[in-house]
Amino acid sequence: MFIDIQDLSFTYSNSLTKAVNCISFTIEKGEVISILGRSGSGKSTILRLIAGLEMPDEGSFTLNGKKIMDDRTFIQPEKRGIGMVFQDYALFPHMNVEENILFGLSKMSRKDKKRRVNEVLELVELEGFEKRYPHQLSGGQQQRVALARAIAPEPELILLDEPFSNLDADLQVKIREDLRRILKKANTTAVFVTHNINDAHALADRILKIKDGKIDKIGRPCDLLGST
Ligand code: ADP
Ligand code: ADP
Repeated sequence: MFIDIQDLSFTYSNSLTKAVNCISFTIEKGEVISILGRSGSGKSTILRLIAGLEMPDEGSFTLNGKKIMDDRTFIQPEKRGIGMVFQDYALFPHMNVEENILFGLSKMSRKDKKRRVNEVLELVELEGFEKRYPHQLSGGQQQRVALARAIAPEPELILLDEPFSNLDADLQVKIREDLRRILKKANTTAVFVTHNINDAHALADRILKIKDGKIDKIGRPCDLLGST
């Protein structure tokens, strides 16, 4: 399987309880997984552990056959091949759209970079927006640029933390449809965190329901319908 996470646990240093308590799950290539749960249930912490922003107390994580972490291994975040879209600091405000996307493409030739920027802008339907600055874009457009930037280096996995939380309700529905289409077209494996059951149902191939740091339920959206 593409992603294998086993027995993942984590306790914040100033806390007595486990924020993440022995979580195990697997993900297939190209799957979109939603981590759903109430505020404080441990969703963001799971994402931070996958990204490598925290070191787990216990657990192992294998990505496409490569050991990312276990008792003896801890691959640094920038070496994991994981793209991230976080709600708070989506784009660099002093860089235009093109520069924002180029930021993650350091290893390519100039020609390849230019081609890739065009490709991902086409994917998110923002051709011609290269020279715009974030403040010249709508909220939805900013989200799409953030996604283009995360997808550009072709990461093996993309993590999204509450990707719609800053958008108004109408826009949320549109962006959520855009997001699913873009992820599927790019065949990108993605894990996104949400407290919104509608987002989870609309977007995910499978939902991981978290309660008090543990997996409460896991299944396809239709399997979980009607359960709370
Ligand atoms: P969610 O993303 O589901 O809202 P979090 O993963 O942010 O939940 O938080 C899980 C638990 O860990 C909560 O009880 C929260 O208060 C606690 N927590 C989160 N961040 C920290 C931190 N930096 N230090 C201590 N406790 C934290
Ligand atoms: P979307 O549904 O994609 O978020 P909006 O309806 O919010 O788009 O915006 C409509 C148009 O207005 C877009 O083409 C966008 O380029 C333009 N626009 C929105 N905000 C700004 C801004 N601050 N400066 C320049 N153009 C803007």
